[in-house]
Amino acid sequence: MLSGNPIQRACPVCAARDAAPCLAKGALRLVRCRRCFMVYADPVPPELVSGAYYDGLGESYYLSPGKLESDYSPVRFERELRWFRRHCAGGRVLDVGCSSGAFLFQLQARSPGTYDVLGTDVSGPALDYAESRGIPVRRGDFLAMDFGGARFDAVTFWAVLEHVAEPRRFLERAASILEPDGRCFVLVPNFQSLAMRLLGARYRYVYEQHLNYFTRATLLRLVQPRFRLVAAHSTHFNPIVIWQDWRRGGRPVSNPQRAELLRRTTAWKQNRLLTPVRWLYRLAESALGAVGLADNLLFVLRPRSEVGDEFGPGRPV
Ligand SMILES: [Zn+2]
Repeated sequence: MLSGNPIQRACPVCAARDAAPCLAKGALRLVRCRRCFMVYADPVPPELVSGAYYDGLGESYYLSPGKLESDYSPVRFERELRWFRRHCAGGRVLDVGCSSGAFLFQLQARSPGTYDVLGTDVSGPALDYAESRGIPVRRGDFLAMDFGGARFDAVTFWAVLEHVAEPRRFLERAASILEPDGRCFVLVPNFQSLAMRLLGARYRYVYEQHLNYFTRATLLRLVQPRFRLVAAHSTHFNPIVIWQDWRRGGRPVSNPQRAELLRRTTAWKQNRLLTPVRWLYRLAESALGAVGLADNLLFVLRPRSEVGDEFGPGRPV
């Protein structure tokens, strides 16, 4: 794995080839674009660009008991579901990078008969599992997928655009298959989060699978050609991850370890004895979110019309 000749990249946001070294961790090299300040991995292993890496991550990660237990726990997509249902009342939903299908499963479980769901991913083993839970799937490369003229009311990218070499093409494809008043949901790690500021390269989410490191400004610049911003939030906060990564001091986390850490943090989130702690935790998450320091950025977007859109980028929230 990750042994092919590295692929050189242009800036995924502005396409310039003018970047300065920013951060190094193991074999990972991050650079910062001098034109738009986007931070991205360069060069990158070909298996990550093609997606072949994820197809090989079955038993060791996506289907490991820790990862599945965490994905299918009711707390895993709590925030995403709240925002999703607020901005999309029903209709056809495509989850790109759906992995084991947990988001769509939870969506259907909470709103039976409201959504017509479809998941797609490059990881065959994860899709096998999604199908076993009753989620309809399409296999392969989203960019090359033929939907036969079908339109969707929502397209979701939950923690996907940080993994792909050409995120702009994914957004263009999403815009092309959305209903004119459809919604696109994007969640990515926040490069300006408190965790990132405290931990830097020690943070577990600075790792080879993440090719793009967005701030609110660079994500906005990426989406603007095809979308208007409907809502933007900074969401999620995991002090356990900060504590664990601080103690680990940046030592690599294997995929099985990553799955086990996910399982443990999910179990803590569900532990009733920790209810008072959760109150404090939610307060901290809201406060960090209000100042843009929470772990992730969540954008709700609506496609611009094909013939230009005079309304500008939308109201920043
Ligand atoms: Zn750039």
